Amino acid sequence: MVGIVVVFDFDRTIIDGDSNKWVVTEMGLTELFQKVRHTIPWDSVMSRMMEELHTKGKTADEIAECLKRAPLHPRITAAIKSAHALGCDLRILSNGLQFFVETILKHHGILGCFSEINTNPTFVDEEGRLTILPYHDFTSSPHGCNLCRSNMCKGLVIERIQASTSDNGKKRFFYLGDGNGDFCPSLKLKEGDHVMPRMNFPLWKRICSSPTVIKAEVHAWSDGEELERVLLHLINTISVEENNIDISSTSQLNSSDCNSQTSPGSTNEAFPHTLPVPH
Ligand SMILES: [Mg+2]
Ligand SMILES: [Zn+2]
Repeated sequence: MVGIVVVFDFDRTIIDGDSNKWVVTEMGLTELFQKVRHTIPWDSVMSRMMEELHTKGKTADEIAECLKRAPLHPRITAAIKSAHALGCDLRILSNGLQFFVETILKHHGILGCFSEINTNPTFVDEEGRLTILPYHDFTSSPHGCNLCRSNMCKGLVIERIQASTSDNGKKRFFYLGDGNGDFCPSLKLKEGDHVMPRMNFPLWKRICSSPTVIKAEVHAWSDGEELERVLLHLINTISVEENNIDISSTSQLNSSDCNSQTSPGSTNEAFPHTLPVPH
């Protein structure tokens, strides 16, 4: 098990486009979307779209069928499967909708690769309407971050993941994203971590314009093939480094083992868990 946590944004990072826009376009809601996007709060726009689909008699299953057609680069699926097989802890951090994210990941057979999906919760109510809740309840407990939209501060979520994974030794974090909302979590990364912004997208532009505020190493990517190559290369490099540490401690142990023939007491103290206990 490598000590690596890889956190993925979803829209325009795992899938090539935006799942909300995909449903709006593919299910004939473009006109309504354009009409309401500037007249109701942004966080309510998708709820309004789901309401409209319900009114038109469209079911959650039909929305799911539409989502399954959203393009996902095959090398990104492969990269996720490989990173999971290498023992990385993979998580989603998306300001999209739970139903959209999970339907697409499941359809491509990679939902099980993720230990956690952080996104805006959804449920299908008793009338069959897809209902959306905000990740943070911004009326009772606003997150107070002025970099992020009111319903989700990704920086807060990253800090929670950092705290929850620190018990089992030092973890290296990777964050992959594209949008303005991915800047806040990128600021929370530490030295030794890696941020992978999608090239020419808003996160990449923000990092380029203020590179000194980012403590993590920056590695841009532009398509699925590059994402796979860069991510797996970095994971392999870290794994080799960690194995080298293991190898050096093993060789120390061997030399101590030799020494133990002359001074067993001191060796036992140094490596109590690795030496057989005589009975
Ligand atoms: Mg995105
Ligand atoms: Zn924030």
